[in-house]
Amino acid sequence: MKKDKAKTKMDIAALKTMSVLYVEDDKEIQRQLSLFLKPKVRTLYSALDGREGLEIFNKHKPDVIITDIRMPTMGGLKMAKSIREIDQDIPIIVITAFNEQEYFLKSIDIGIDKYVLKPIDPYLLLEALIKSAIVLVQKREIELNAKYIRFILDANPSFIITTNKNELEYINKTFLNFLGYHSLEDFKKDSKSLEDFFLKVDGIPLPLQKKRGWLKYMVNNPGKDVLVYFVNQKYPAGEPKIFLVNCNRFPEMDNYIFSFTDITKIETEKKEFKKQAATDALTGVSNRNKLLDILHAEINRSLRYQTPLSLIMFDIDYFKRINDAYGHNIGDCVLKQVTQIVSDNIRETDILARWGGDEFLILTPESDINNTKLMANKLGALIKEFRFQEVGNVTSSFGVAQFRPGDDLETFIGRADHVLYRAKEGGRGRVEA
Ligand code: GH3
Ligand code: MG
Repeated sequence: MKKDKAKTKMDIAALKTMSVLYVEDDKEIQRQLSLFLKPKVRTLYSALDGREGLEIFNKHKPDVIITDIRMPTMGGLKMAKSIREIDQDIPIIVITAFNEQEYFLKSIDIGIDKYVLKPIDPYLLLEALIKSAIVLVQKREIELNAKYIRFILDANPSFIITTNKNELEYINKTFLNFLGYHSLEDFKKDSKSLEDFFLKVDGIPLPLQKKRGWLKYMVNNPGKDVLVYFVNQKYPAGEPKIFLVNCNRFPEMDNYIFSFTDITKIETEKKEFKKQAATDALTGVSNRNKLLDILHAEINRSLRYQTPLSLIMFDIDYFKRINDAYGHNIGDCVLKQVTQIVSDNIRETDILARWGGDEFLILTPESDINNTKLMANKLGALIKEFRFQEVGNVTSSFGVAQFRPGDDLETFIGRADHVLYRAKEGGRGRVEA
């Protein structure tokens, strides 16, 4: 009982939100029923025939139509048909007499929702109206919810898309703005597939055909994080953006939500840190750690392909004296200048690294000891000839070694170090191998 009362209260509230168009040519019935309905609905529009009804419908777009059938100028069903062409969903309640049964089939065709028999029982009409009101309120709630969800997605700073198994259904505003489109329709009109913007997926550059399969791949691997390099084709000169993409399936439908988290800044910083960790801050060449990594790889390559691999270790002569005589800053300049001379005169495939202090290593892949010795002599001469600002001439000593079967990283470097020591002992400014 209590529940019924609450329900009625809700029904009345629902009815109160509706605007109703009531079309009836009998003025007395129109007057009486309007008096009954008016306080129960939000707005009541009245018309005396179908044509007037259609005009009011077009002007005010009411929520529900109540109409008599037989009327002058334009009958109720003709009006209903015209209204249906404009709005497929609007509830239409037809007031009909028993002798108007011939209209039934026609009205079914038009999609009439409800009938109330003449003479009109106002409470039966009210019940029909309430049923329409409940459906309408629920529909509004669903629409509002959908709008709210869209609002949440659109306001999200991440890029979000939803898809079915094969194609895009929604792109959020943030993403559309980035792509330079106003709507999904605009985007689709350009016949662009989202994947065309991808440069690389998980670090691998993709040919177009494979790119196009990306959506399917993600859909078939839900929950997998994928790194996507994305280039905005409207600004192709710009740096690609890097996103972590995650796809989740909506459990009750074959629909998927993809979120793109922009990690460009983190990835760029990571790259920069990696570079810094591998670079000598003063001279800008590789540092000891980086050289050891490269040397390890080059030893493996040399062993696999049976190619020669050599190493030059060199050290500036009496560098301490330069520091002592001209100061640490001038010493730094000499270190930078020596680095410059050497890097300008080695092959692109050779690797120069600062081993520590005033000591450097040059790794020369595919070069045997004789060639590398020649190269060390050339570099020694270039350094010797150079007039360093304030300091004048500076010499360096070189030790050259070739990788031998049975060597490892330490024995290889150790041998270069050993011959460098011999060069120092032998009078400096010379090459030993
Ligand atoms: P040798 O001919 O035997 O090599 O004599 P040396 O004086 O060059 O002796 P050594 O190579 O042992 O000395 C290296 C010096 O380099 C010691 C250190 O004070 C200096 N040094 C190390 N790192 C730097 C640096 O970054 N800048 C400057 N200016 N000096 C440095
Ligand atoms: Mg030295």
